[in-house]
Amino acid sequence: MCQKVTAQPRYVIFYNVKSFFVVTIRTPVQGVFCRSCADEKALRSTVITWLLGWWGFPWGIVYSTHAIINNLLGGSKPKDVNARLLSYQAYVFATQGKYDLARAVGADALDLSRSSKSTSLQILLVSLLQALDNGKPINRLQDTWALLSCGFYLQIALIVGAIVTTLNFLPPNLESSTQSSSATTTQPKSTASVKPAYVRPGLADNGTPFPANSGYVDGYPYTLTDGYSNITIDNTQNDFDVFIKLFSLDVEKPKPVRVIFIRAKEQFVIEKIRAGNYDVRYRNLYTGALFRSEPLQLQEFRTATGVRFSDVTLTLYKLRNGNAQTYTISEGEF
Ligand SMILES: [Zn+2]
Repeated sequence: MCQKVTAQPRYVIFYNVKSFFVVTIRTPVQGVFCRSCADEKALRSTVITWLLGWWGFPWGIVYSTHAIINNLLGGSKPKDVNARLLSYQAYVFATQGKYDLARAVGADALDLSRSSKSTSLQILLVSLLQALDNGKPINRLQDTWALLSCGFYLQIALIVGAIVTTLNFLPPNLESSTQSSSATTTQPKSTASVKPAYVRPGLADNGTPFPANSGYVDGYPYTLTDGYSNITIDNTQNDFDVFIKLFSLDVEKPKPVRVIFIRAKEQFVIEKIRAGNYDVRYRNLYTGALFRSEPLQLQEFRTATGVRFSDVTLTLYKLRNGNAQTYTISEGEF
């Protein structure tokens, strides 16, 4: 959000995707933007996704493709939210005596509220436009949100650049990439024989039995619950259970604020988290290995229409060929 006064702000959601071999994190970048700020956010999210999004299979690739296309097409602009945002703008302009502007913005809001089928808002807007009617036709605003902008071309240039780069590197890489993928498939057998056997504990580390179903584990802190943000932890790709701790990083010594058990092939949404900085640390209950995610920033802000918040998805993968080394943590950090 910038301080620029614009008649045509929009509430827009872009996505960036970062993968770290064992996790893929999809973060929405959302807010009320003017066109130039929106272009900048889209481009930044897309660059992050191009650089970091792909390195997880399969969700890194799926989410990255979705994010790049979504950002390229100008992000998602929820019609109902934008209809309310613009009708609020129209009222503000009307109270400031800027009647022509109020009528133009009000007409935009009415179009949006029609396509979002929000009838109560339509009634309000029609009566606002009637009150402001001076017999002259409404001087409609030029749409500054047209698809083809400089941000659009920059993102297209990125796609073309990536394709050209891929084609250049393809011939020498083709062989090695097939090799590494077959190595990946055989990997679990060889590691299983080398690794010391991990015996899964019957109890969580506070002595409480793990619940029968995915959910919070008794006897642990359950705090910072006065927020709106959610983190979805997706373990549906895996055939192992996980023991998850959500750590708050906003205190000198990071501490768990939610502790969760998630069964294999299931997912769990940690809800109502206060805005702030967190990371997710987890134990694979099949191998005993410990990991953590990169820091996650949860944001929350008020708009004319309500509270917007972060809705982050964290997808867990099987540990593959040594890649996860950097993200493993010690017992003391869990
Ligand atoms: Zn701006």
